[in-house]
Amino acid sequence: MKLWKKFKEFLNITPREGAELKDLAVFIRSLSVVFLFYFVLTSIALFATTYYIISLLEFMAAGLFLMAFIYTYRNRTNYAMAFFGAVIVALPTVLTLVTGWKTNFQWCLIVEILVLYFSLEIDVTTKKRLFWVISADFVLLAVLTHVLPNNLELEYGWSIYFHFVSAIFYMLIIHVIAYFYSNKFNVAEENLRDINNRLRKMATTDALTGLCNRRVMREDLTMLAYNHERDNTPFVIAIADIDYFKRINDTYGHDAGDYILKQLAAVFLNTMDGKGKIARWGGEEFLFVFENATGSQVVGILDNMRKQIEHTAFRYNDNNIKVTLTVGLEDYSRIFGVEAVISKADAKLYQGKEEGRNRVIY
Ligand code: GH3
Ligand code: MG
Ligand code: MG
Repeated sequence: MKLWKKFKEFLNITPREGAELKDLAVFIRSLSVVFLFYFVLTSIALFATTYYIISLLEFMAAGLFLMAFIYTYRNRTNYAMAFFGAVIVALPTVLTLVTGWKTNFQWCLIVEILVLYFSLEIDVTTKKRLFWVISADFVLLAVLTHVLPNNLELEYGWSIYFHFVSAIFYMLIIHVIAYFYSNKFNVAEENLRDINNRLRKMATTDALTGLCNRRVMREDLTMLAYNHERDNTPFVIAIADIDYFKRINDTYGHDAGDYILKQLAAVFLNTMDGKGKIARWGGEEFLFVFENATGSQVVGILDNMRKQIEHTAFRYNDNNIKVTLTVGLEDYSRIFGVEAVISKADAKLYQGKEEGRNRVIY
């Protein structure tokens, strides 16, 4: 078991040629090993039945697979692929011509078609051309094996052995190829899913603070307004704007400003604690929605948050940065609708700014 794991690790060593070739390298290695066993094991049967030359030919074939195998570790994956392809077309052709159709070497040609199409390095036109060449070879062999004399007769026991090995080999090789193909699909699909998720995240969240963005908040507000229409579920909209934020940027730098925005987002989320949603509404403006709540219920929560922020020193590069916040708060009303309620909250926010900032206006 441990040996098997070690062997798999060895097969999976990444070539230095780049990630795209890794799949191909491991693919060629795995196939080469299976082919190597096939040729060695079947050559034993031929040797035992005194077909020494054919047996030697097979044994040499095994050596060629060993070479293809080694080439993938020498960062010559494309070369190994071409070499491997040439070997599993040329050898079975010769072996089939000499030994006949019943020895089943010809099916290696079909294996080569599957191997050929696995590589992304070969363009489709080349693949098609090679497909026709291999097919022609295959069809020709089907006819020629009837014309040429091939009277390979294995002893009964060795014949069973020979066909037993062949049968296992073809099942195994198809299994290995199917496995690699399905892996490729899975990896491609996983990558797509990953990209999709990342795109969705990018489209719905603000990159700096991780809060939801304006677009998502608008959708949520539409939904809440719809629910309110249906069953009168109350909700509250609050807009918060950092006081004199420009000064923070000017005094401590833009990065410090970004840091404050991130820290405040964390405080906001803490305050919200599942009571609703927060969006980054503008540069240093945030929109809070408290679901299933009224203004009088949340004004205290917001004021506590305001005080907490006022008394926090945000530490950035040895500076203790103090910030305050002004908030405008408005109950949702179906008479006005979402846009007007936001404007009302905004008006209260500016009233708060006018009155000296660092306050919650309801
Ligand atoms: P007020 O109390 O009236 O709101 O004053 P203020 O300085 O906060 O308001 P103003 O609208 O003049 O300035 C907002 C500043 O916020 C200007 C802009 O550079 C800064 N800002 C907006 N977005 C970001 C951001 O993503 N990062 C940083 N660091 N600063 C930002
Ligand atoms: Mg502002
Ligand atoms: Mg501001």
